[in-house]
Amino acid sequence: MSNDFLKQVDRAFTRAAALTDQDPALLEHIKRCKSTYYFTFPLKRDDGRLETIEAWRAEHSHHKLPTKGGIRYSTEVTENEVIALATLMTFKCAIVDVPFGGAKGGIKINRANYSDRELERITRRYTFELKRKNFIGPGIDVPAPDYGTGAREMSWMVDTYNSLSSGELNSLACVTGKPVAQGGIRGRTEATGRGVYFGVREACAVDDDMHEAGLKAGIRGKRVVIQGLGNVGYHAAKYLSEAGAVLVGLAEYNGAIHNPDGIDLTKAIDYFRAHSTLIGYPGANDVENSQDALLLDCDILVPAALENQITSKNAGEIKAKIIAEAANGPTTFQADEILRQRGCIVLPDTYLNAGGVTVSYFEWVKNLSHLRFGRMQKRFSQASQRRLVDSLQNLVDKKFAPEDLAQITRGADEADLVDSGLEETMVDAYAQVRNTWDELRKKHGVDKVDMRDAAFASAINKIAVCYDDLGIFP
Ligand code: GLU
Repeated sequence: MSNDFLKQVDRAFTRAAALTDQDPALLEHIKRCKSTYYFTFPLKRDDGRLETIEAWRAEHSHHKLPTKGGIRYSTEVTENEVIALATLMTFKCAIVDVPFGGAKGGIKINRANYSDRELERITRRYTFELKRKNFIGPGIDVPAPDYGTGAREMSWMVDTYNSLSSGELNSLACVTGKPVAQGGIRGRTEATGRGVYFGVREACAVDDDMHEAGLKAGIRGKRVVIQGLGNVGYHAAKYLSEAGAVLVGLAEYNGAIHNPDGIDLTKAIDYFRAHSTLIGYPGANDVENSQDALLLDCDILVPAALENQITSKNAGEIKAKIIAEAANGPTTFQADEILRQRGCIVLPDTYLNAGGVTVSYFEWVKNLSHLRFGRMQKRFSQASQRRLVDSLQNLVDKKFAPEDLAQITRGADEADLVDSGLEETMVDAYAQVRNTWDELRKKHGVDKVDMRDAAFASAINKIAVCYDDLGIFP
């Protein structure tokens, strides 16, 4: 399966690479993973048993340093999966212009089978091993959360790193996605889902593309199915529904629900928490086999779980006109071909879920600058906006309503600035990918190039520039 996944990623790269004018030898170099560290370590279980834990960290590209990418805890983790995911990170970072090479890590465990104390021991030992081999550090390789990990694991990582590098001024920047109290940044948890929302909003705003797909412009009223209600899926669902999209289907690994009139996200999540399944939720019909949820009648399908979900087996039956890849690698190479022929717009993972690493970048910059965003200018902006409002009020001899006044003279804090930086990044990157798509379609034919090709091609060209003056290639 994961061997397949790496092949899928390589094929997607190769397809797009052929659309660029880059030297084939350079393309081969860009494609290959630069270093992989596989290691095992012993874990003493709470009951005294000894177990061997398998772990990896892959650094796909060193064209910019540090390398960057999450740490995944899953029984499906393999070396090839980690390499495939690290590869995607390289292109993702290039697409949104964050100055990192791609990396990914993984530990082969089912986190549900371990106590919190065991998970802490595993995470700390993993960090120790990375540090020992120079696979972690603010200027070397900076992990972050991924499937099965979150702020808590990152806090164990930063604490272990700190204890091994006393006096290193920038040590907090060795990992991102930390709790705010430990050098994290406001907005990181929501970032990937929030970025998915911005990306879908940008795509839905292009009249011509929507027309071609047989849809009206705008998010309002669009029928959405979300697969996976983890951190990414949940936040994507939240922001899309707040913008007026209708959640007609929600899927979890053990069952899905469907209601063409819309599902209340909060109630469905509460039900899921209480029952550990969506099945039986009173506000919708059950879809016993989760995979069937991908085939529900809708406008936008958001795979937000794991890779290899949309395959040659089900792609022909998918009704959605827009596939919004919130997960990494949810669509196989063969499925891509089918979807393209059917005129679906696939918003590729390398662009669409880059909000997470974008806000990780902000967190890393915050840690390196040792200064919270907004701290210097908040009061200053408040005071100057207040002066502007006062003069306006005097001029027209009218007063603003108190709520409006408070809003106008607020002054941006860290959460506002992170959100604004994320929006700017997703809007700008969409414009770049969309332009490349246009150019490539004009050159090679409308049905020959999809948005994934455009995203890869645009990233490849940016990465190639980094090799320009190195004298490695003629
Ligand atoms: N794991 C996330 C991803 O796949 C975030 C990586 C990061 O923030 O470094 O993009």
